[in-house]
Amino acid sequence: MEKVTTRDVVRKYNFKFTKSLGQNFLVDDTVLEDIVRGADVSKEDLVIEIGPGVGTLTRELLAKAKKVYAIELDSDLIPILQEELKDFDNFELIHKDALKVDFDEIIGEEKSVKVVANLPYYVTTPIIANLITKGYNFKSLTIMIQKEVAERIDAEPNNKDYGSLSILVQYYCDTKILRRVPPASFIPQPKVDSIVIRLDKLDKPRVQVRDKDLFFKVVRQSFNMRRKTLRNAVKSLGMLDSEEMEKAFKEAGIDPKRRGETLSLQEFANLTDSIYNVKNHNG
Ligand code: SAM
Repeated sequence: MEKVTTRDVVRKYNFKFTKSLGQNFLVDDTVLEDIVRGADVSKEDLVIEIGPGVGTLTRELLAKAKKVYAIELDSDLIPILQEELKDFDNFELIHKDALKVDFDEIIGEEKSVKVVANLPYYVTTPIIANLITKGYNFKSLTIMIQKEVAERIDAEPNNKDYGSLSILVQYYCDTKILRRVPPASFIPQPKVDSIVIRLDKLDKPRVQVRDKDLFFKVVRQSFNMRRKTLRNAVKSLGMLDSEEMEKAFKEAGIDPKRRGETLSLQEFANLTDSIYNVKNHNG
């Protein structure tokens, strides 16, 4: 069978790209192969693709997966995808904003669900946050995203990219950068470099905390005030007086003069639990 390329389909339908929808379509076969191989897709898997475009990656996924659900927002792409992929009986198209999809309805009782996508960059972070925090039963997310965002997700303490996003993702997932992708791999070319990253959902969060909301509040506050000490960050939560703060830091074994960017997830968890204990007088 002759290979159908992105350029062919774009030309055939005289498709006009919408920049505001993050439409940069892949034209590099090596990247397609690396995404599919990196996602480790097999006939056991239900794959959810967000933003199929003209279906270039979708076609590769359909050949490997049991079933592919593709979620596309752009009405102009719906008839193109329906026509181009009509021969695949394992394909379902959902015309919707990925941020408004209840993934539980797609996943149902499926045991092996993988998300694979070349994401629209303007909504990368909300899509990832939505997928990982809602407890959906999927195994992994293999996604192409802007290089800077991938580096923030994958960063370790004391690295300039380490921040709230690193902690949010690493709390729920193992992270692995698979490859870098230059602008020339897309039409039209984006202004930024991209990275394919794989996030493997952990069976349980990486660290255990007594109050998850408080944990993320402490994290956010610590990075909102990057140049400030942890003492100032915790003070700005407005939960503890000076004496209680001293007690909490002491119990956690953390120097209040340190900055948030030096703390591991476990240390943030220890600090949060100590704040919780002091506040609830059960420390
Ligand atoms: N998968 C194709 C490829 O690799 O060539 C296209 C990827 S392109 C970077 C992103 C796709 O996401 C576009 O098709 C765009 O229309 C779609 N999209 C943008 N915002 C979306 C949203 N909120 N929900 C679902 N799809 C969206």
